Amino acid sequence: MDEHLRDELAAWFEFYRDMGIEDFYRRPPGSDPAAIAEIASRSQEPEAPSAERRPRDSVSLVADAPVQSPSADSRLFQRTPAHALNLFEAPPPVPAGRETLADILRDLGDCQRCKLAGGRHNIVFGQGNPHAELVFVGEGPGADEDAQGLPFVGRAGQLLNRMLQFVGIKREDVYICNVVKCRPPGNRTPEPDEVATCSPFLFRQIEAIRPRLVCCLGAPAVKTVLGLKDGILKIRGKFYNYGASKALATVHPAYILRNPREEKILREDFEKIRTFLAAPR
Ligand code: URA
Repeated sequence: MDEHLRDELAAWFEFYRDMGIEDFYRRPPGSDPAAIAEIASRSQEPEAPSAERRPRDSVSLVADAPVQSPSADSRLFQRTPAHALNLFEAPPPVPAGRETLADILRDLGDCQRCKLAGGRHNIVFGQGNPHAELVFVGEGPGADEDAQGLPFVGRAGQLLNRMLQFVGIKREDVYICNVVKCRPPGNRTPEPDEVATCSPFLFRQIEAIRPRLVCCLGAPAVKTVLGLKDGILKIRGKFYNYGASKALATVHPAYILRNPREEKILREDFEKIRTFLAAPR
């Protein structure tokens, strides 16, 4: 089997396992030759030309996305991509030579590259649709995430889920990850050496997914992804260029848990996400 096709399928198996679907082995891919032929033919499509992406060097402020009427949103958020419903339908092709999430996960391995490794129970790599249009970047796993190996599954995650629901986005349609993949002790902010060691994996994840929008949750994510050090309340709600994608800075859900009266900030920014994604490319 073609190496990229194999990696692509591996990424999809991982995605479905993350979604709690475990029984797809009952119908092995070999049982559906037509689907395999379709996947193989797609995987040989030539790579589409794309703008070179140099995330760290390419940040600039752009105007807020144009406001669209809420009814324009239905195009994006009332559908689940067909390929997310049927494992054996071909997912979008991955151009030859481009790294997949499975490649990055394999490279991360049983990471011992920084001092956070010693205190973790699980690496929290990321979760969601490997072809998501929207990627969320948090700070680092907390206790619940460390226990489960999944991002944003604790109280902050519940608030994130509520915000997604508020704007009609399904959690399984987005991709969620963090600046660092291992829990900092006592949930402290990741230290600069830890961010420097781990963030290349984050950049590779974003590059593998190539979303339309990266949403940075909180100051550490904004600083890492966009290189911006201003106070989060000053820069939140604005869109920035991030290579060929856009990035939006907003507050971390944990900030809202500590300041529940500020929830409108997060709602406002999630409405901007909805409007941005509903607008034509
Ligand atoms: N906070 C984060 O920044 N990331 C998580 O995954 C959970 C809580």
